[in-house]
Parts: sequence; structure tokens; C-alpha cells
Amino acid sequence: MTEAAPAVRVAGLWKRFGEQVAVAGIDLSLPAGKFIGLVGPNGAGKTTTLSMATGLLRPDQGTVEVVGHDVWRDPVEVKARIGVLPEGLRLFERLSGRELLGYTGRLRGLPGAEVDKRATQLLDVLDLAGAQHKLVVDYSTGMRKKIGLAAALLHNPEVLFLDEPFEGVDPVSAQTIRGVLERYTASGATVVFSSHVMELVESLCDWVAVMAAGRIRAQGTLAEVRGAAPSLQQAFLELVGAHGRDAGSDLDWLGGGAR
Ligand code: ATP
Repeated sequence: MTEAAPAVRVAGLWKRFGEQVAVAGIDLSLPAGKFIGLVGPNGAGKTTTLSMATGLLRPDQGTVEVVGHDVWRDPVEVKARIGVLPEGLRLFERLSGRELLGYTGRLRGLPGAEVDKRATQLLDVLDLAGAQHKLVVDYSTGMRKKIGLAAALLHNPEVLFLDEPFEGVDPVSAQTIRGVLERYTASGATVVFSSHVMELVESLCDWVAVMAAGRIRAQGTLAEVRGAAPSLQQAFLELVGAHGRDAGSDLDWLGGGAR
């Protein structure tokens, strides 16, 4: 069997913000049809990478191809094929959840009846049916994540990019989101998501890329990245060089008698 073309191919990607190197010449080859986790500590460069991969931030150097199309030379082709849940998601807040989906679907060029059908199903599955006529501005953090996810899925994209999709989401909603995404990847689509929660990545992903200080430290199947370590958490700590640090040793005043 021949190896399928990667869903996302990143080559020599760089981004600097002044003196700060956010992404330092990374290469990635993300397989299609997989649940892929991009993990790394705060400031590793995950959001910057996802922003460049989805056409939201122009790289200084390097290329990104999504399902065979160059993101920066062929942006319309790419944007038609991807769904994005960006960090600090900005939504049209003065619309209700249903209106937001109706608007997004029509903007994507779907027929109105199809948009309405898919919106009803997504609102239902994501447990937002009861809040569908409420303005998005009045949604909770988790509800915003869910309506953002619904908007990103509405046109049935080939690749879905999610920046911290589970942050601020309660366990019941997280389980719901997880079910939706597992069903989506089972149909051959690809999910790329960033997270720092190793247990979550370990239980969800079949493919992982570990990033630290703007570089990719490891990429491959979960088993390959975990190697001989007992858990992904342990492998991660070793890869990012944080093992053994005694976080409390310099805080001798904390919790002591002197106030
Ligand atoms: P977190 O897990 O904390 O969200 P991250 O891995 O997503 O972190 P990025 O947000 O990509 O990390 O940031 C990588 C580095 O680039 C950080 O040092 C950050 O301060 C810097 N950076 C990101 N965006 C900008 C910007 N617009 N201007 C200046 N520096 C930036």
C-alpha cells in the first residue's frame, strides 16, 4: 500500500517578532485522517504555527501546504478545505448562535436549506439547541468554543485546525466535542489541535508533534513519541528538558510564617 499524501506539510517555517524567534525553521508532515496533537509548553510557538498554517499570519520564510495546496500562494483553495477554531476566537457576537451558523454557512456558499439542516444537527449534538436564539455575546466560554467549533465544521472541511479547543470547557462538553471529532476523523478527515494537557492528547491522538522554543522536538505516532517513557507526560518533560526542576525551591517565603 502506498503512503497517503500528508494533510499538512510544513517546510522551513520561520516567524520572528522583533528579537523574539517564535518559530525557528520547522518541518512537519502531518498524516491525513488522523487525530493530531501539537503539544508544547507556554510560548513554544504552537499558536504562531497554527496561525501560519491557516493563512492568518504570514510566515517570514518557509511554506505550508494543506491537502496539496500552498496556503500562501493558493489561499482560496486552502480556505475552502479547512475549518479553523483560532485562539481568542472573535465571533459576530450580536448574532444568536443559530444566526451565526446561518451566516457562516451562506458565506461558505452552501445552499440555505442545507445550512439550516446542518445547523440544527450541530446545535443539537453540541447541546446548544436551548441557547440557539440567545446572542453569542451572552454565551459562556465553553458555549463559545462549541459554537465556534460548529461554525468551523459546517462546510465539512477536509482538515480542521483547533487552537486549545478544550480550554475552559466542562468535562461533559469536552466529552461531546470529543465524540464529534472522533466521528469526523473516522470519516477520513484530519484534526490538528494544540494543547498542553498531555492526558487528553494521549487519550485522543494517534499522532503527536512536540514543540518547544520554536522547534519541533519530536513527531510521529503516539507510540513513537512516547518511546520507552511510561507516559506521554514523562516523554514530554524529557523532550522539553523540564524534568527534575524543583519548582518550589526558590519560593521559601511561600506558605512560611513571614507575611
Ligand atoms: P501558549 O501555550 O502559552 O498559548 P504557544 O505555544 O501558543 O503558547 P505562541 O503564542 O505561538 O506560543 O508564542 C510563541 C512566542 O512568540 C512567545 O514567546 C510569544 O511571546 C511570541 N509572540 C507570539 N505572538 C506575538 C506577537 N504578535 N508579537 C510579539 N511576540 C509574539
